[in-house]
Amino acid sequence: MAGEPQDDCLFCKIVRGQIPATIVRETETTVAFRDINPQAPTHVLVIPRVHHPDAASLAAAEPAIAADVLREAGEIAAEEKLEGYRVVFNTGSGAGQTVFHAHAHLLGGRGLHWPPG
Ligand code: AMP
Ligand code: ZN
Repeated sequence: MAGEPQDDCLFCKIVRGQIPATIVRETETTVAFRDINPQAPTHVLVIPRVHHPDAASLAAAEPAIAADVLREAGEIAAEEKLEGYRVVFNTGSGAGQTVFHAHAHLLGGRGLHWPPG
């Protein structure tokens, strides 16, 4: 069923505490942790506790939780005192998505070029 935990999903395992992560913030609906391979001085992943394969699927199925993910990204950016930041949802393998559990990349702490690569 949509939203149910997936046994073979890395981020479901982080949500359940089965794989360690450097947790930054948690809410009833979201977990945020530092990316293991940071691309910027601040690189935090914000994920919903529920499993959906990508951000658009999450927004379609559970829009309030998609909003929670975005709000958390903003809260963390404020906590980390970022002057500017970028929120990225890689969607599909062609865009570099490797973990098929919806997640926002929060990137900041350095100059961010536009357009991104
Ligand atoms: P994406 O490529 O958009 O699917 O993003 C997946 C992200 O998860 C990558 O930036 C990885 O570095 C990150 N990642 C993979 N495994 C872990 C882990 N165990 N803890 C934290 N971040 C991870
Ligand atoms: Zn999952």
